[in-house]
Amino acid sequence: MNQQIFSPKPENLKGPWDVAIIGSGPAGLTAAIYTTRGAASTIIFGGEVWGGQLMLTTEVDNFPGAPGVLGSDLMTKMREHAQMFGAEFIPQNVSEIDTTSSPFKLMANGEWITAKSIIIATGAQTLWLDVPGISKLIGRGVSSCAPCDAPFFKDKKVAVVGGGDSAMEEALVLTKYASEVTLIHRREEFRASVAMQEKVKVNPKIKIVWNTEVVSVRGEGKLESLNLINKSTNETSQLVVDGLFIAIGHTPSTTAFSGKIELDEKGYVVATDKTKTSVPGIFVAGDVEDHKYKQAITAAGFGCMAGMDALAYLQEVK
Ligand code: NAP
Repeated sequence: MNQQIFSPKPENLKGPWDVAIIGSGPAGLTAAIYTTRGAASTIIFGGEVWGGQLMLTTEVDNFPGAPGVLGSDLMTKMREHAQMFGAEFIPQNVSEIDTTSSPFKLMANGEWITAKSIIIATGAQTLWLDVPGISKLIGRGVSSCAPCDAPFFKDKKVAVVGGGDSAMEEALVLTKYASEVTLIHRREEFRASVAMQEKVKVNPKIKIVWNTEVVSVRGEGKLESLNLINKSTNETSQLVVDGLFIAIGHTPSTTAFSGKIELDEKGYVVATDKTKTSVPGIFVAGDVEDHKYKQAITAAGFGCMAGMDALAYLQEVK
């Protein structure tokens, strides 16, 4: 690619940058590797909490070429890789975008910057269970991150809610510390991958409770117990636990884009032709668009595509 086609990186942050990337998970950082190597000046708004969902996990066994790598190590390497080629990394959230004129405007920390193209890679956030008592106990026994909080539950009893890969992962991590892990699922089959299910089912510390929902949680100052209902029998019961880990899925991080680009009914960015949003010049990659796969490797793949599509767009409009 011709190294001179795009504008040089400005001295300050005002812009216009060739590409502004919002988000610093595998999608955003991979996009940055491609745009910088394509000689496009690139600014990454990495967020106040950077790195995405992999920062909340321990070992990652399914990223090709790096079995057993720690999620946080993998993300650090990706960030260094993106910065090696000149991407500017800003640890701030973008609160608003203005898509009405070109270059686009992005607001972060109270200041506007401009960019000729944008790649949205903001990912998705953990969903919390919506039951009485839970909100005041978050951080007081209720958590959504076993790798972060499991050590607080050494030799204690904990529960996990969910039936997907995240719930399996949370339960397995917790067995390293807790004396007993009760995995509560609302149906009688998991949706998690077979490999993860098998690991859970053979673990002697994990007890699976099927067809059951948490109806409320109790505790004064810290979590004490869960009120459960068995959906098949309507029987209610109480489970005494010190910890409750919620792993019931995610919601896309798109508040800043509402009304600016097309979102679907669940708030995910709508993409056509893989990475194009409803606004020409604004692209999307990763879990903020992907309902289905939500893997580090697929996010990285989409980041690559978004980076290449942004470069092609810059060529067209220059
Ligand atoms: P998920 O696959 O959407 O699973 C969410 C689980 O929570 C489902 O079992 C669902 O039950 C249950 N659930 C949803 N709302 C609930 C509620 N209000 N009350 C009780 N249970 C509720 O989400 P995820 O496990 O976070 O996984 C998301 C994606 O990331 C998946 O594609 C997964 O494969 C991927 N992932 C991969 C790995 C890995 O490969 N190492 C690790 C983590 C996640 P139902 O089954 O009844 O709908």
